[in-house]
Amino acid sequence: MINAPATLAMLGGGQLGRFFVNAAHELGYRVMVVDPQEDCPAGLIADEHIVADYDDAEALEYIAKNCAAATTEFENVPAKTLEVLSQHIQVHPSASAVAVAQDRIIEKTFLRDNGFTTAPFLIIENESDFNEVTDDYFPAILKVSRFGYDGKGQERISSIEEAKQAFQDFGAPCVIEKMLSLDLEVSVVMARNANGDSECFTLAENQHSNGILDISIVPARTTQDLLDKAKQVANELAEKLEYVGVLAVEFFISNDKLLVNEIAPRPHNSGHFTIDACVTSQYEQQVRALCGLPLGSPQSHNASVMVNLLGDLWFQKDNEKSIEPAWNVLTTIPNLKLHFYGKTSARPGRKMGHFVVVDRQMDSALDVALDARKKIGVQ
Ligand code: ADP
Ligand code: MG
Repeated sequence: MINAPATLAMLGGGQLGRFFVNAAHELGYRVMVVDPQEDCPAGLIADEHIVADYDDAEALEYIAKNCAAATTEFENVPAKTLEVLSQHIQVHPSASAVAVAQDRIIEKTFLRDNGFTTAPFLIIENESDFNEVTDDYFPAILKVSRFGYDGKGQERISSIEEAKQAFQDFGAPCVIEKMLSLDLEVSVVMARNANGDSECFTLAENQHSNGILDISIVPARTTQDLLDKAKQVANELAEKLEYVGVLAVEFFISNDKLLVNEIAPRPHNSGHFTIDACVTSQYEQQVRALCGLPLGSPQSHNASVMVNLLGDLWFQKDNEKSIEPAWNVLTTIPNLKLHFYGKTSARPGRKMGHFVVVDRQMDSALDVALDARKKIGVQ
């Protein structure tokens, strides 16, 4: 067990890392953030910020010397970096688990080989791989295997010609997936520690806009049977990966069937609600799993609705000039919790902050959240 005030390394300095810093501080730990970007959200509040690339040998040596453990907040940290660090300090999740989640080809193959149901897909590494793609795949979606996020690195396509063109444009290995008609998207955020104990948070129902998460509604509005099944699948996945840390599993529900979409080896945007509506947040669970503490209770003490605040909000009045939205319409709502990530420049599509409305009833939380969203300009 790693006790406070040990120093924990966080690889990645985005908002998920920033919330980890808060949670670690609450428990008395120190945090060293690594991120090449000088003014990154987590770096701004860390005890120490190493401004370096994730494969910088000197930085890794410094972390190994000064930290008791390391974790990550994004899947694109090189698996090799985690492997190198793990020779000196505790690293969770492991390089091998992150390697599965950071490459769609490896991820989908892992899911298929272990009997988890996904949308029908084929791996496209060469143009000749399109020979396998039959007409019933269309409409489809082509996704780059690595470094895609928030709908980036994906293209919706309706014919084999379009698919070939998109593959050429990406210039990288891809997977092609059948476009499904979705009843609902849900996610399970869970934590698992080195003893194999695991805890799942209440399922979130996720609505996306332009491929980016827009709203998470908790609890998700689906049947108890599917809710239970999703948790069971998440647990099985974590076991298969021998996972230690916080794992998020995104699911599609299509024609009443549960399909695994993708996994994230870290806390998840759809789990922000856990800060305001649960006994233990996903970030505290990440600290606990990393340090070998028992997991906390994931129980929700309220229903909640989370709304992402994207940089687009700053450009509603003027396409060119950034204008700060009128946040006072949000701060006057007593059961609305507002969070900003400390990012100084707004850009369309950039996640700047979020709010969570907590209420006894999900319906009333949703009403308040949608109304608040409208008041700051989102239709
Ligand atoms: P990422 O979150 O890494 O950008 P995803 O694969 O989760 O990539 O895709 C983003 C969103 O696009 C999904 O949450 C879903 O709304 C939509 N989407 C992706 N794949 C499919 C599919 N096969 N059928 C229908 N919708 C899809
Ligand atoms: Mg996704």
